[in-house]
Amino acid sequence: MSNQTTQSTSFNRSDLNKNALKVTQRLSEGGFTAYLVGGCVRDLLLGRQPKDFDVATNATPQQVNRLFRNSRIIGRRFQIVHVRFGREIIEVSTFRAQHDQKQSSEAGHVLNDNVFGSFEDDAVRRDFTINALYYCPTKDQVLDPTSLGLDDLQKKRLVLIGDPETRFREDPVRMLRAIRFKAKLDFSISQKLERTIQENASLMAEIPPARLFEEVLKLLMAGAAKKTYQALKHYQLIETLFPKVADAGINQNLIERALESTDRRIANGQPVTPAFLFAALLWDPVAQLHTKLTNIDGLSRADGWAAAGDQIVAQQQSTLSIPRRFSGPAKDIWCLQDRFEARQGKRPFRLLAHKRFRAAYDFLLLRRDSGEPLEALCDWWTEFQTADEVEQKSMIQATRPNRKRKPRRKSNTD
Ligand code: ATP
Ligand code: MG
Repeated sequence: MSNQTTQSTSFNRSDLNKNALKVTQRLSEGGFTAYLVGGCVRDLLLGRQPKDFDVATNATPQQVNRLFRNSRIIGRRFQIVHVRFGREIIEVSTFRAQHDQKQSSEAGHVLNDNVFGSFEDDAVRRDFTINALYYCPTKDQVLDPTSLGLDDLQKKRLVLIGDPETRFREDPVRMLRAIRFKAKLDFSISQKLERTIQENASLMAEIPPARLFEEVLKLLMAGAAKKTYQALKHYQLIETLFPKVADAGINQNLIERALESTDRRIANGQPVTPAFLFAALLWDPVAQLHTKLTNIDGLSRADGWAAAGDQIVAQQQSTLSIPRRFSGPAKDIWCLQDRFEARQGKRPFRLLAHKRFRAAYDFLLLRRDSGEPLEALCDWWTEFQTADEVEQKSMIQATRPNRKRKPRRKSNTD
């Protein structure tokens, strides 16, 4: 790999993160080599705003740690250093060599990735050629040790470094990363790579559920959730991530609308919560179980929602675990759906004051938009929120069932 390509940057130095530059500068002053690497270089060259800035260096984690008071070493299998600047973290990793066979499990997984190596070694253990580009701040140059990255970037090609099957076996998450970058950057992937993903989709089952959650969150929160979801279905990966969602008879329309609205909100700079997306992904399985629990097992409607939510979330945890901070709000969204129907007395006011009202109301609209007959109910709640108190009371009055009043019996004491 002696024919590394270098190129003067085609991005503005002012686009570079100041803290990342502080890190590379201090490392160079300490006598080490330090580059910006990976997604940030790729995104800057594409004229996109990088999500985070990573640094690669020949300093060991301990050496990096000694240089920065505001740093700590994290990880075991793959030690990296987090250098903290207020709320921002710059990740510094040491050049690593490709693992050897002794350090991989029988299935081919990398177990120990702390074998440090040269800059060239570091490039080939990365996933895609476009993610193996390095920026040297002191020389203001981009280095391309695989000699393919810059060309692939220009031709909008997502190319895995090395033999796809081996690389997926080492780390099946690379399949999800392929889908993420393809959708996010609108790059092409070769038919061979596509086929290898389809043939190896089942490897995903070996990934710990918590890591899968992190990866899937990145997949769905990158602004191309709908495209990504369709790709996951195409590559038969959805079965291993959300087994319930892959069942026939699941309302895909509701899921796709939720993904579309997530993409729209991200494009408009509005906040999005993964809880809403998980609520949408698992809505049909929860609703189906609710019907069973109430009709056959005799649970009350409210108990049915609580039990159905708990059971479906519990089943989901075995493949991809949703942390409580997201599964809790998702369960609230499901449980609140019935309460939109109850519009007597103080109930609408209590629901309106619920901390999860907004998300639950948006979810009700989503159900309507995906074909449930909820027009009148949605209109009522849309109006109720902006009405004044007098109007609200008369709206509640108008929802009262038309019961014939019994004539009042005269009291004997009259
Ligand atoms: P993003 O825009 O999502 O941050 P990224 O490419 O920077 O994209 P990160 O997860 O931040 O992705 O990883 C930083 C870099 O580390 C990647 O560009 C790649 O070089 C390398 N990398 C990350 N995950 C893997 C993996 N599973 N296998 C090999 N290399 C990886
Ligand atoms: Mg990154």
